[in-house]
Amino acid sequence: MIVPGSTIGILGGGQLGRMLAIAAASMGYRVHIFAPDEELPAGDVAAEITRASYTDRAALEAFAASVDVVTLEFENVDAASVALLANLVPTRPGARALEIAQDRVAEKEFFVSLGGRVAPYRAVSSLADLEAAAYEIGAPGILKTRRFGYDGKGQARIDADASLDEAWVNIGERPAIYEGFVDFEAEFSLLLARAKNGETVAYPAVHNVHGGGILERSAIPAPPLVAAQVAEAEALARTAADALGYVGLLTLEFFAGNDGPVVNEMAPRVHNSGHWTIEGAHTSQFENHIRAICGLPLGDPRLSARGVSMQNLVGDAVHDWARILADPRAHLHLYGKSEVKPGRKMGHVTWLED
Ligand code: AMP
Repeated sequence: MIVPGSTIGILGGGQLGRMLAIAAASMGYRVHIFAPDEELPAGDVAAEITRASYTDRAALEAFAASVDVVTLEFENVDAASVALLANLVPTRPGARALEIAQDRVAEKEFFVSLGGRVAPYRAVSSLADLEAAAYEIGAPGILKTRRFGYDGKGQARIDADASLDEAWVNIGERPAIYEGFVDFEAEFSLLLARAKNGETVAYPAVHNVHGGGILERSAIPAPPLVAAQVAEAEALARTAADALGYVGLLTLEFFAGNDGPVVNEMAPRVHNSGHWTIEGAHTSQFENHIRAICGLPLGDPRLSARGVSMQNLVGDAVHDWARILADPRAHLHLYGKSEVKPGRKMGHVTWLED
């Protein structure tokens, strides 16, 4: 067990790390952030910072020596670096979960191997592959880079009359996946915390609305259509967490399709669609992640209100902070980022319904 007073190392220094560090601090832990970025929203609330590349061996070794456990808030860290850390200090979740989540093809294969439902897909490594995939699966579809995509980046929608050459160039002619477009009524996510002893707790399913590939809003409880698919989706999430020997908070994103839940992707970390848990659940996703990686008992994930909604403050929307605060029921969270950019997540607001 990693007892309060110990130091938790976090790879990544964004808002997820910031909220993890706040949860860790309120339980009596110290946090050491490791990230290469100039601006570190998590660094503002951490005891220590190492600003270095994720592949800097010497820096990783020094980091491992200074912490009692390592976790991550950013999944695009080199899996080899995570494996290196894991040899030196408990590292949760491990490199395997990361490797799968980093590669959209490996992710699909993983879920298929567990009996999950995925969008029809083909791996694409050339324009010829893309032509074959679009022919076999049909349009509309989405071309996504296999690696390093997030918030809708590295994606091109392919309609029946789209130019495949152009789409291939647009995503940078990188290894990719072509996915048939899933006809869905709603998107939802499941957040599950798994402890070292295999115990799991699941949060209520979250209904998510995206705009331009970025999460805009989350709401709980999810509509009846989603609720009808939650048992199946949750069984898949538990099977996935068990198969990985996962420790920590795991997120799975789904489409509520016509035939049942279609799993879209997995994030081996706390997730934007779980920010509502800070005020809206008995134990937040951040606290449960810290509890899990420290070998502590998990906390109650149930709703603490009749319903909850969360709205992201993306780009210029952050300038509304004063107007938002005029609503005494709004819980405002700002991430301390100095530069406002279109598509950049600057903060979020949560409302409880009682
Ligand atoms: P992703 O980066 O895979 O999470 O994709 C971002 C968003 O694009 C998703 O949340 C969906 O709204 C949409 N999307 C991605 N893949 C598909 C698909 N195969 N069918 C329909 N919509 C999709």
